[in-house]
Amino acid sequence: MQPISIYIHIPFCVRKCAYCDFTSFPGRSAQMETYLSAVCREMRAQAAFFGRRQVSTVFIGGGTPTLMSGGQAQRLLDALRACFDVAPDAEITMEGNPGTVTAQSLAAYRAAGVNRLSLGVQSLDDGLLAAIGRIHTAAQAREAVRLARAAGFENLNLDLMFGLPGQSAAQWAQTLSEAIALAPEHLSCYSLIVEEGTPLSEQLEAGACAALPDEDELGCMDELTERLTACAGFARYEVSNYARPGFECRHNIVYWACEPYLGLGCAAHSDMDGRRFYNPSDWAGYLRMAESGSPARDAEGENTRQDRMFERMMMGLRMVRGVDCARFARDFGEAPEDVWPGVIARDLRVGLMERDGDFLRLTERGMQVMNSVLVELL
Ligand code: SF4
Repeated sequence: MQPISIYIHIPFCVRKCAYCDFTSFPGRSAQMETYLSAVCREMRAQAAFFGRRQVSTVFIGGGTPTLMSGGQAQRLLDALRACFDVAPDAEITMEGNPGTVTAQSLAAYRAAGVNRLSLGVQSLDDGLLAAIGRIHTAAQAREAVRLARAAGFENLNLDLMFGLPGQSAAQWAQTLSEAIALAPEHLSCYSLIVEEGTPLSEQLEAGACAALPDEDELGCMDELTERLTACAGFARYEVSNYARPGFECRHNIVYWACEPYLGLGCAAHSDMDGRRFYNPSDWAGYLRMAESGSPARDAEGENTRQDRMFERMMMGLRMVRGVDCARFARDFGEAPEDVWPGVIARDLRVGLMERDGDFLRLTERGMQVMNSVLVELL
């Protein structure tokens, strides 16, 4: 059977960042034990149903997973290994907030088997960090990198955000250059998306914070990102992700390639053997579900074949390598060129797409207009 990936959501944070609309509960981490017991119950029930599958990647995300103690992380991963056949070379990532890590906790996570750390640095400018409500400073982010290396992490990602209120292209270049100087193996560089209902969106509407950079400035930041990362030896392998050779995030590639994954914890989503389902995103609802012993398995029902084909293209084209057409044809009985003959033939002709062996991908120009390419496919 095909190996799976596992996502575990840890929905606790010290306090809510101004732009955040993820499922996370600030100030509640005293309930970590109760929560982890619920996750372990859910894990056992899902393993009983889906079988002791081989697991090739694990991602412990949040929220702020680094609010777990070393002992709690160890128990969580021990429980996972008791339920599933976690491959000896599995990529095991934990997300961390630089304001919550210590030398001891990082060493304990590493000893528990976490072999990739993803630090939410976001910016190395204290003014911007404060403006978006992060709990840490730039100095703490640098120190977290030093501590991670000292704890033995050899695969380190830094999450960065650009397009922040009042941010100039020069400030972005400064943060990115300093982040590169910290010598991570991987960089995720996301443009800020202001979600409705977040404190940041209200501040912007009320004119209570600096304005967002305009389209030209954003374009300039995007170009800077490509140029600075390439000069430093990173290859872009997805719209927002850059890695040194061999350090692409295997877990995220599973999502973009639409391969199976099981999500555990509050608000986690799953795509297992053609079934889509997701867990309640409210605290009480999640605990109730986990205690019931019958976790979600088909809340979202079956997606139509058409939905799945479009999703395979939409996710696959985010990657520089593109969509695996041979696998597409195996899974759906026809190749992408047969499903969308007019659109793909035209995009190939005008240089928005190209074929590379089994893979169909966007060219550099195609990547710049990805949304309009996808709308045509839709
Ligand atoms: S640390 Fe992450 S999950 Fe927590 S509030 Fe900030 S952005 Fe949201």
